[in-house]
Amino acid sequence: MRLSSSLAKSAKSQADNFVSFKSKGLEQEWETLRQKNLGLYGLIENVAYFTKEKMKKGVVITMIYRTEQQQKALYSARKTPPKTSYHMDWKAVDLRSKTFTADEIEDICNYLNKHYNGFNKCVLKSGKICTALYHKIENNGFHFHVQYNGPVVGRPFQYDSLPSPLKYNPSDADKVAFEAVA
Ligand SMILES: [Zn+2]
Repeated sequence: MRLSSSLAKSAKSQADNFVSFKSKGLEQEWETLRQKNLGLYGLIENVAYFTKEKMKKGVVITMIYRTEQQQKALYSARKTPPKTSYHMDWKAVDLRSKTFTADEIEDICNYLNKHYNGFNKCVLKSGKICTALYHKIENNGFHFHVQYNGPVVGRPFQYDSLPSPLKYNPSDADKVAFEAVA
């Protein structure tokens, strides 16, 4: 269970949590994401289990929803800025990468692409299906960009031994979906 007192919460390291947030407003967006795109919500919890088990640290969400104005501002330095983003449609989440080593970053991208690309409708500009990439936009820092539009996929069986402080628990049917691509 998460500690309820805000004092205890702030004293607690972000790395101790499965999923934590860069800013307060993202906590509300995270709840909205659950309504808008349960597949992506489950994916983020899933990768948090993976990093927690394998790397002993959780994930920090740095961006979920982006308005059209925010999209314009982000790419303002570019001559032909992309007009749309999966962030504008609740289909993308950014995660902090600086808490992970280069090997861990590669592991995380491989884990997500291996297990989710087979279900995912999100593509890159080239048309290639992609779930996770490590990149930077203009003058902003490197981060994980995770995009997903597809069914809810359960986490792999090997992580079931971990305590479950999270709200989403995959059903047996969801776990079958994961096995199909594992
Ligand atoms: Zn992104």
